Amino acid sequence: MSTQVPGAPTHFIKDIINEDRKVNKNGGRVHTRFPPEPNGYLHIGHAKSICLNFGLAIDYAGKCNLRFDDTNPSKEEVEYVDSIMDSVRWLGFDWEDRLYYASDYFEQLYEYAEHLIRNGKAYVCHLTPDEIREYRGTLTAPGRESPYRGRPVDENLDLFRRMRAGELPDGRCVLRAKIDMASGNINMRDPVLYRILRATHHRTGDSWCIYPMYDYAHPISDAIEGVTHSICTLEFEDHRPFYDWVLDQLPVPCHPQQIEFARLNMTYTVLSKRKLLQLVQENHVAGWDDPRMPTLAGMRRRGFTPEAIRDFCDRIGVAKANSTVDFALLAHCLREDLNKRAPRVMAVLRPLRVVIENYPEGQVEWFDAENNPEDPTAGTRKIPFSRVVYIEQEDFLENPPKKFYRLAPGREIRLKHAYIIKCTGVVKDDKGEIVELQCTYDTGSRGGEAPDGRPIKVTTHWVSAEHAIGSEVRLYDHLFHVENPGEAADFLSCINPSSLTVLKDCKLEPGLASAAPGVFFQFMRQGYFTADPVDSMPGHLVFNRTVSLKDEWARVAKRMDSK
Ligand code: ATP
Ligand code: MG
Repeated sequence: MSTQVPGAPTHFIKDIINEDRKVNKNGGRVHTRFPPEPNGYLHIGHAKSICLNFGLAIDYAGKCNLRFDDTNPSKEEVEYVDSIMDSVRWLGFDWEDRLYYASDYFEQLYEYAEHLIRNGKAYVCHLTPDEIREYRGTLTAPGRESPYRGRPVDENLDLFRRMRAGELPDGRCVLRAKIDMASGNINMRDPVLYRILRATHHRTGDSWCIYPMYDYAHPISDAIEGVTHSICTLEFEDHRPFYDWVLDQLPVPCHPQQIEFARLNMTYTVLSKRKLLQLVQENHVAGWDDPRMPTLAGMRRRGFTPEAIRDFCDRIGVAKANSTVDFALLAHCLREDLNKRAPRVMAVLRPLRVVIENYPEGQVEWFDAENNPEDPTAGTRKIPFSRVVYIEQEDFLENPPKKFYRLAPGREIRLKHAYIIKCTGVVKDDKGEIVELQCTYDTGSRGGEAPDGRPIKVTTHWVSAEHAIGSEVRLYDHLFHVENPGEAADFLSCINPSSLTVLKDCKLEPGLASAAPGVFFQFMRQGYFTADPVDSMPGHLVFNRTVSLKDEWARVAKRMDSK
């Protein structure tokens, strides 16, 4: 599988790798890793990192590991581990036999910490967290040295061992690196390496009561795995000196190179795991896989394809400057993919009953309908026509304004693949609501062309009432009604109250009765749909609209160009 669309531009990380290979750095090897923390579900931002890391391994015939950075047991869960593996596989990537956990290295990380202590590079500090913060200084003011900084090696070793043995309560002290409290880089001002925390870990259980900090565990994990290029997002740029410091102090097998790139931000959504967790926990959505969520599980459920997401990640590229990508680009990639593969079918979402009074009662005709004009091999299917059909309510107006060309009393429209019909009457209920149209059909218009060649402006979709199958259909809009909800003071106040529309009484052509989730259809004039993998079942069909047909990408791209 190639990860690149033809002609996709190269990027600065490839430039770095190409240079490394020229001078035979790492023996020319390329070994990356995707290192999620199992504290939430993966989202579209992670997809960018996955495509980048696994994509580089494919492009350079290298390797990419999946490693769980599970150093914070209080927030991590097996449910997240499972969903992350599922999403990476679904996106189309394979870590082969290289599934790792930072927790696999807890013993080694501990031994390396003792190594630092023995070399006078780490000390046990009894300042409280508040004091540590205060001593750390600010961007403009240097830090102050902890009074515990000068502790002799033996005392540090003894205390650290007692921390591990559980002799000290949570939070009593920490192990810190001994670097430089006057450094211009705050991350170098004696950062914490280990903390005491009695929390059950999803893999190591209660065997540890001290846990390493992410910034300490990460470079060592990379080195143990023989990673060559450790790619992370820009916020870690200032952490790079510490990454290098750790590796320089220790007898690790290799020294990976940390490279930072800009994280993905997308309009009309939030990509912070903390905010996504809040949406789930406070029931603003139906779960991590709610089809409105930017999680890979949610997008998958809604009907996004891995092909479209990989294409999107190729197109947005990899850069050093933060930017926000418009959701319209992702939707555009999705339409391009689905347009090729989705058979066209007819489904009426808001049905209006139409009785064709001059059509013989009990008669059924079967018309040929092409499955996909974009795909000559897709063939045709038979669809039934009978005396009563459904059309969309919005395709009829009793008193049409100018420019409304669809059905109205006395007017004609074409029923796709079938006949031309003319509206002759309207039936209303006691509230005055239209419940049925009376129509006649042009007996000479079989297939949809008028015998005298008179023009028929509008063609509409329909289904035969007798043969239709009922379905619930869910339509989605952006979860947030502002472009940058993440920047709002209260992102929850930006939730779009009409992000979900549930239509309970839709009428589908009969062939859809056995549609499996993951099989896509274009409902004519309505968009691309797939059966909901959780809620749809025989006898109670539920279809999700993956994306509508209206492509806004060209307009958005133009607006961005002119900015
Ligand atoms: P946390 O705040 O929990 O660390 P995170 O979004 O960084 O959240 P991780 O599980 O640490 O989550 O992310 C795994 C990898 O995915 C990291 O290498 C991270 O840099 C990358 N990543 C996360 N979010 C994005 C994003 N929006 N765009 C690109 N890469 C991302
Ligand atoms: Mg992170």
